Order: sequence, then structure tokens, then C-alpha cells
Amino acid sequence: MPELISETRPVARVDHYCLVCGCIAVRAGEQYLRRVYAFDGSAYAWISCAECDAIYSLVASWAYDDGEGIGSDKYHEWAYEYAWDSDHGEAARAFLRRSDSEIPEGPDHAQPLGRESER
Ligand SMILES: [Zn+2]
Repeated sequence: MPELISETRPVARVDHYCLVCGCIAVRAGEQYLRRVYAFDGSAYAWISCAECDAIYSLVASWAYDDGEGIGSDKYHEWAYEYAWDSDHGEAARAFLRRSDSEIPEGPDHAQPLGRESER
């Protein structure tokens, strides 16, 4: 399990990308929350955007905890599964759009049956 070893609020010198969805999470000159974790003998900084932070608890409670924490892959799996969920579908689709991922076909895009025979 990754262990949180420091949490600081520095001012960014360069743009930082969200490690979950890939959008720009912090622009140069902005103050941001920088978390550093220790895992497998090395330390790494974790930066994610406000939108990904907002759905973290949903993803974390859904994901099977394999002891390696919640990474980008878990967010993607969650978003695919919940893309057309009545409660969280909007957040899931917003995540897929942010991360430039394909949104699975939903109920609104269903093709009518029998189209071929009408010609
Ligand atoms: Zn993000």
C-alpha cells in the first residue's frame, strides 16, 4: 500500500498534468496540493485535478483494493462501468471525455431494429 509521506502546498513553476485523466491539473503560478507517497522503496509525487479528486471516493469504494492504491486504470474501469449509471453517469462520462477515452454506447444511442428491411 502506498504510504503518504508528505503533503505540501507549493506554487507550481510549470504546468502539471493530472496523473489520472491527463488534463492540465495545475497551471504555472498556481498553488496546488502536492502529495508524495512511498511505494516499493521509492517516492513519487501524486497530482490530480479537482474533478478527479471529486470522484476519488466513488472509485475507491467501487474498486477492489489489491493493496496498490487507486490508479488511473481503476478510474477508467469505473467510468466504463458507470457511464450510464443513473446517479454517477454524468461524472463517469465527464471523466471519459477529460481523459480522451471512448464513451461506451448508451441507451440514447441504441440503433432501431429492422432498419435494413425498411429500404
Ligand atoms: Zn484528472
